[in-house]
Amino acid sequence: MKVLVVNCGSSSLKYQLIDSETEKALAVGLCERIGIDGRLNHTPAGGEKVVINDPLPNHEVAIQSVLAALTDANYGVIKSLDEIGAVGHRVVHGGEKFASSVVINDEVIAAIEECNDLAPLHNPANLIGINACKTIMPGVPMVAVFDTAFHQTMPKEAYLYGLPFEYYDKYKIRRYGFHGTSHSFVSKRAIDVAGLDAKNSKVIVCHLGNGASISAVKNGESVDTSMGLTPLEGLIMGTRSGDIDPAIIEFIAHKENKSIDDIMTILNKKSGVQGMSGVSSDFRDLAKAADEGNEHAKEAVAVFAYRVAKYIGAYVAAMNGVDAIAFTAGLGENDGKVRKTVCSYLGYLGITLDEEENAKRGFENIITTKDSKVKVLVIPTNEELAIARETVALV
Ligand code: AMP
Repeated sequence: MKVLVVNCGSSSLKYQLIDSETEKALAVGLCERIGIDGRLNHTPAGGEKVVINDPLPNHEVAIQSVLAALTDANYGVIKSLDEIGAVGHRVVHGGEKFASSVVINDEVIAAIEECNDLAPLHNPANLIGINACKTIMPGVPMVAVFDTAFHQTMPKEAYLYGLPFEYYDKYKIRRYGFHGTSHSFVSKRAIDVAGLDAKNSKVIVCHLGNGASISAVKNGESVDTSMGLTPLEGLIMGTRSGDIDPAIIEFIAHKENKSIDDIMTILNKKSGVQGMSGVSSDFRDLAKAADEGNEHAKEAVAVFAYRVAKYIGAYVAAMNGVDAIAFTAGLGENDGKVRKTVCSYLGYLGITLDEEENAKRGFENIITTKDSKVKVLVIPTNEELAIARETVALV
């Protein structure tokens, strides 16, 4: 079956057409500037990227343009739309309603809408994508795959905050966690690659990209994760602060005469390694600046790695041990130096890094020596493939 995987943002739409038999992407692409002017970048497998500058006034037109690109005589990859057997949608927040992926129907759409409050920037955009596909491809089954679903197995100790209970009761304020599709995919691969028994395994997944989160996965189930009610909590990220003393918000508000909205923008968009270094949110730029002697860039990377190591320690405690630690996403997969710095804190676990293996990249790999007590792995994530697999399983 060919599955169209859609990840819809407020002004963008990422897609992949995946052949579920070969598990290969036949085409990947991105609609940008939807509602502004519009640009579609479409790349057929093994072919050149095509940029189409037709107007994209709304998401329905964007989906129509994607379908036109997929069936185009020159750069298309299918002859007719009938070849698309199902659509898999990434949905950011499923609240407590969704602990797994579901086939989309009107009831599911209404339930996703009810989670809009929890992810006001993301869920409405995801729903626009779902409704646009429903209109343009009626009859094609669709599946919603939630970023939060994998973490619904967390116990209360991990998901309740130290707040008055009424806020959980009234508003469902609790830890949800994100990047669930990636944590699920990578933990399963780590269990396989490390040769563990899935039913008796303790794995820590470090998803380190522009957004970053860590999860503790015991016997295949998420038991804790670093992101919370929103993706702002936990690790230091590209532009997000991660954990801070909540009183800092009031302190800055008074000192700088700023509103809560202003401060949320600072914490989400102007903090993290970008804010700390004043250089960039991209670790490649930070490495270059650090090599040139920029102290703030060095500090930002050092604080980032230290925070990752602290969370690993916390999750070893949460699971009373660990068998394997997996690094994934842009930074986790590519930056051997950051992995090495994180592992330098983990000698107490009997971890010994294999420097030669740690320098390699682009494939699933064990980067510790044979006698290391805990295996450390690099596992490239593939959220789109995970969404396609879930979709096929349900339709
Ligand atoms: P992601 O959000 O998973 O796409 O990851 C994007 C981030 O990964 C970038 O902002 C960089 O910080 C980091 N990254 C990607 N490639 C590399 C690389 N070759 N070396 C170091 N960091 C990288």
